[in-house]
Amino acid sequence: MIIVKGFIKMKKTFLGILASCAVLFASCAYESDRKPCSVSFFAMDTYMTVTAYGKNAESALNDVSEKIIALEKMWSATDENSEVYAINNSGGKTVPVSKETEALIEYALEISEATDGALNITLYPVLKAWGFTTGEYRVPSDDEIAALLENTGCEKVRLDSGSVTIPEGMQLDLGAVGKGYAGDIAVSILKERGVNSALLDLGGNIQAIGSKPDGTPWRVGLRNPFDGGSLAMLEVSDCAVITSGGYERYFTDENGSTYCHILDPENGRPAESGLASATIIGSKGRLCDGLSTAVFVMGQEKAEQFWRGYGGFEMVLVTKGGEVYITEGIEESFTLNGEYPDTRVNVIR
Ligand code: ADP
Ligand code: MG
Repeated sequence: MIIVKGFIKMKKTFLGILASCAVLFASCAYESDRKPCSVSFFAMDTYMTVTAYGKNAESALNDVSEKIIALEKMWSATDENSEVYAINNSGGKTVPVSKETEALIEYALEISEATDGALNITLYPVLKAWGFTTGEYRVPSDDEIAALLENTGCEKVRLDSGSVTIPEGMQLDLGAVGKGYAGDIAVSILKERGVNSALLDLGGNIQAIGSKPDGTPWRVGLRNPFDGGSLAMLEVSDCAVITSGGYERYFTDENGSTYCHILDPENGRPAESGLASATIIGSKGRLCDGLSTAVFVMGQEKAEQFWRGYGGFEMVLVTKGGEVYITEGIEESFTLNGEYPDTRVNVIR
């Protein structure tokens, strides 16, 4: 049985890419525990597919897609009706926000502090200057970047119960954490509805509920950051696997220098930490999403120190030179693609 729920036209998007059309449908093979039911839709600037098993899967999936689209409407920096837009155009005034937005910002501030500012949700004007919000790329001058950085800093964001205040001129961008947080909310909806086996692919952010219906772990593919092929396979149950990479969105100037969409908050320039990609594996999407961006900014050595101190997650780092580093907790569940040229995997202990 295939159910076509409908076609929804939406004004986009999360990070400023132009309007596009979202297709939304939940389709189920059978109402049986072993047959998949899935929904695909476009939200938060990416294509999402959620597959779930079990009796309530179909209606739960429709709720999930509706919820994620509703969250995007609150968190988009470009949608004039969003809560983030209201905060960014408040002229320094206090703006009332929903509990989800408050919780997301509170969490992002917590990760910002934990990562010594590597995650920074106040960089939107700097991202705009580089053209990452529109695709009209350019290299801003050092003076322009320095002036824009003056008005950044997570410590200037004031969060009260039900409201947010930022200084005039500051603008927030929740792009580095929103998808992971949305994934956690989606996981809660599915679990509340009795789904205990599901795989969420939110534009490459993978979140798994339980294991596959046959009891074996989910097999999640990690991308080779150099050619888009396969780097490795990871066997997981009940966890999130989220990657940030320089290859995801970048541009090249006339001299052949490349500039990626993840900025180093210290200097307002695309992060040059020596990493090609950073994958975080952990129990919550919000943690993995926030940390994948932060770890990409930190680079391998700082990331290792951070892993030892903060804990509670595992990671796969690929350096620009092609070296692969994995933390010891995933040694058994990680299989490098046999065709990956550098077959040496360094285990961080
Ligand atoms: P993606 O969402 O593309 O999968 P990320 O989760 O790493 O990847 O988020 C990257 C996005 O976060 C950028 O496109 C930008 O909007 C924003 N961003 C860039 N640098 C930072 C940073 N240092 N801290 C927080 N957000 C950032
Ligand atoms: Mg992220």
